[in-house]
Order: sequence, then C-alpha cells, then structure tokens
Amino acid sequence: MEFLNWGGGEPLNVKKWAGGGGSKPDTLTTGAGIPVGDKLNIMTVGPRGPLLVQDVVFTDEMAHFDRERIPERVVHAKGAVFEHIGKRTPIAIRFSSVAGESGSADTVRDPRGFAMKFYTEEGNWDLVGNNTPIFFIRDAMLFPSFIHSQKRNPQTHLKDPDMVWDFWSLRPESLHQVSFLFSDRGIPDGHRFMNGYGSHAFKLINANGRAVYCKFHAKTDQGIKNLSVEEAGKLAASDPDYGLRDLYNAIANGNYPSWSFYIQVMTFEQAENFPYNPFDLTKVWPHKDYPLIPVGKLVLNRNPVNYFAEVEQLAFDPSNMPSGIEPSPDKMLQGRLFSYPDTHRHRLGPNYLQLPVNCPFRARVANYQRDGPMCLSDNQGGAPNYYPNSFTGPEDHQHFKESRSSVSADVQRFNSANEDNVTQVRNFYTKVLKEEERERLCENIAGHLKDAQLFIQRKAVKNFTDVHPDYGARVQALLDKYNAEGGKQDVIRTYTQVTSELAAKERSNL
Ligand code: NDP
Repeated sequence: MEFLNWGGGEPLNVKKWAGGGGSKPDTLTTGAGIPVGDKLNIMTVGPRGPLLVQDVVFTDEMAHFDRERIPERVVHAKGAVFEHIGKRTPIAIRFSSVAGESGSADTVRDPRGFAMKFYTEEGNWDLVGNNTPIFFIRDAMLFPSFIHSQKRNPQTHLKDPDMVWDFWSLRPESLHQVSFLFSDRGIPDGHRFMNGYGSHAFKLINANGRAVYCKFHAKTDQGIKNLSVEEAGKLAASDPDYGLRDLYNAIANGNYPSWSFYIQVMTFEQAENFPYNPFDLTKVWPHKDYPLIPVGKLVLNRNPVNYFAEVEQLAFDPSNMPSGIEPSPDKMLQGRLFSYPDTHRHRLGPNYLQLPVNCPFRARVANYQRDGPMCLSDNQGGAPNYYPNSFTGPEDHQHFKESRSSVSADVQRFNSANEDNVTQVRNFYTKVLKEEERERLCENIAGHLKDAQLFIQRKAVKNFTDVHPDYGARVQALLDKYNAEGGKQDVIRTYTQVTSELAAKERSNL
C-alpha cells in the first residue's frame, strides 16, 4: 500500500500533519483516546457471524458518524415519499440520491435510495433498499469512511475525485458496485424506471418456526429506462428536479407507478454450500439457482400532502422487522441495525417513532418507554412504567419470540477484504453487458477517473484488469488519451495541493 502524508505530501515518517500544525499521530485511537488494534473489520462471532454489542470501536465510530450533521440551513438529502392503501398494506416509499445535498440535481450518477415502509398490523416493516442489489463494501466498519470519501473534501468543500478513487481502489470489494454505478443504470430516468432491492439477506420464518434466508426485489412495471450522460448533464443544468417532478406528476395524473415484488429464497443448507459468503453485500444470489418468486405488487397512488411532515420527517430503520422477518448475519445489515435508529434519535429525537408518518398506526404501541423531548402522544397515560408489574401493563408473548439460531465460534475482527472481489464482476462485464454497454461503462469510468492523480488511476486500473484484462486495458487506453490531452504529470501531488488546485479551478469558473 502506498502512503501519502495527508497534508504535507512527504512520506508518513515526516513529523508534519495537515495544515502544517503538530506532528503526525502514530496510533489510531477511539474518541476516548484508546489505541485501536483493527479499524477495518467489525467484531463478529465467527467469520460470518453476527456483530457483537461489545464492539465499541465500531459503535464509537458509527455513533459519531450518525451525529456528524448539525442542523443545516436548508439542506438535506433530497427525496420524495408516496403512500398507498393497497390490497393489504399501506406503504410509504422514499426515493433519494446518496451523495448530493437537498437541491442537488436528480440526474447525477449516484446510487438511488429505494426505502420502503410497510404499515402492517403487527408494527412497521422498513425495507431500506437501494436501486442496486449490492453495495460498495461488505463490512460496516468502513461505512463512515466510504461516505466521507464520496462527500466533500474537508478543506475545499469540493467533491474530490482523489478521495473517491483512492478509497475505491484500496477496497476492491467495491468493484462490483462501481461497475453497476458507471454502467447505464447509474443514471436512471427518474424514479419510476428503476428497480428496488432490499439488497441484504434476511430470514423469513414460517408459522411452524421454520426459517429460510431470503432477498427482496422490486422490479419496475414501467420498464428500466436510463438517461444518457449527455441528456443527464443537460437536465442537471436546466431541470435539477426532473426526477421529483416526473414522479409527482405521474401520480397526480393517476398514472400510478408500480413495482412487482419478488423474493429469492435460500435454505440454511444451501447457504452452507454457497460458493461465497451468502451474506456478503457485494454479491448477488444468481437468478438461475435462486429464482425470483412473485409475492405482490407495490403501487404508488398518493403524493405527500406536506413534504416536511411526510418526507423530511420520515425515518427508515432496517431493525423495524415484524414477527416472521429477521436479520441475517450480513455484516452491513448488522451495522445498519444500530446506526439507523441511532441517527434518527439524534436527528429527530428519541420520540421520532411518535411522528405521524413514522408511527405504527395500524398497531397499538404499548411499552415501558416514557418521556423525553417532543413526546407527542399521551405518554401512555397512567399505565405502569416498569416491567414486570402486577397491574395492567402489557405482557410479552412467547408466540413472538425470535427464531432460535446457534453460533459458536471465535470472536474476532475477521478480515473479509479478499473474499473473491472479481468473479461476479467478471460475469457482469462479460455476460450481462453488451459490447456497446461495455464501451459506455469504460468511457464513463475513464471520464471520472481521469480527474484523479496518476498513482490512484494506476491502482484503479489494476483492479479493473483483475476483473478482466479487456476491462483494464480499455479504461487505461481512454485514460492515456485524457492524460495526454490534459498534459497530466506523473508526479504525486499532495492532498492539499490537489484540493487547492480544484478550489482555484472552481473559483475561475464562477
Ligand atoms: P442473470 O442473467 O439472471 O442476471 C443478470 C441481471 O443483471 C439482470 O437480470 C438484471 O437484473 C441485471 N442487469 C442488467 N443490466 C444491468 C446493468 N447495467 N447494471 C446492473 N444490473 C444489470 O444472471 P445472474 O443472476 O447469474 O447474475 C449475473 C450477474 O448479473 C451478477 O454477477 C451481477 O453482476 C448481475 N446482476 C444479478 C442480479 C441478481 O440478483 N442475480 C441482479 C442485478 C445484477 P434485474 O433482473 O434485477 O434487473
């Protein structure tokens, strides 16, 4: 691994730190100053086992990340919600982009959030998905750093191709999602023409207590439609709210968009024999071995009446799973079970589940939680506030107990960095994409990677070559062209130099 001094550009042993102040700390610590032994892997029971609450290195990192945003002026990630009284269950769906702030263009290349809330009679079920069945990383410990690398440079406050590609090239498990992102599906034509995926593996438990693993897919009934890079660029300038408007108008005009809802099912025995870790969020379950089974339809037939009340305050949490749906040991899901409700308690307050759009209005909440800021309900009146009690408080019922599973293994920070990062990407590149789609994929990648420094470009191209020599060669050939045109020098510039240049360029464009 090559290292650069974050600020000074000299090798790491030089006693200089960002901005020239102080010496470079030798050891990474938690917020309490405790030295960290491994900051790349969460602590699980066995290599595929669930996350432990005792992983305080993870909770220290994640809980801080959850609270990074102070209330911003008028800014928040951009989204839209739609609610529907369907055959059985009312739902709310929020579509969003990931990296952009509120007001950013709808037509940027970015994964799209596809978060579904089902208001069931046994409480709310949140399936907090994306428009891709996979993700960039498989270990939740990396989530805050991954997001930092996609957001703005801490010095210039600009998006920074060095940060983006540095992280991706150092973590080749991102190759699959990066390849999806830079393919045609990376810029959907609004929200109606894309699929949604629950992405993680979950457990489904039947009435007899028998459990299987499953994945959820929502396939658009409108058909997949994407925008070309040129169209998307034009729309970003002329109509940044293109996606939001398209969805709003379609619903307002009674042209209700819908998605067919499917599951894939894997038995515990099949999971044991699956060639990969079946709970790895950077991989799919092949359709031919695990066919899609139709289970329903999602129809969006109502726009929000008030955006703030019904969208901005809408909070999704993957740990909201009614009886019969349980988490798998997917390490990303295990991390999200903690981080989502943690973020909402910070952003909306500890009583966020009492807000009308979040409250399980078809179930009755009866528990021993009381008080706290913004208590909107009657605070459960005079009912007992401790458990057990001999009075009229709610009781637990065996019937709703989680399924039993057994784990017995070493507890450790298991390194999953090299768990076959290329086979499925190779299938995608060689078998799923047509020749002209491969061409566009490589052009889209090179068109973005060209803005990163040469040593980062080289690392990224090596990873694409590991997927397939043709993939690496095509990206490199395009980069050579761009680099020659731009007179790109093969010198390692410091992080600060690069970001200052970017800032200067941005200023000169004003
Ligand atoms: P299949 O041929 O059955 O699946 C290929 C799938 O690729 C299609 O069904 C479609 O997914 C998806 N696809 C097509 N074009 C693109 C694109 N530009 N970007 C992203 N996805 C696209 O084969 P397998 O199930 O064996 O999968 C082969 C490869 O296909 C995988 O390694 C993976 O890269 C990719 N893939 C697989 C999915 C799965 O759940 N099995 C889902 C998405 C991609 P969809 O039907 O969901 O629209």
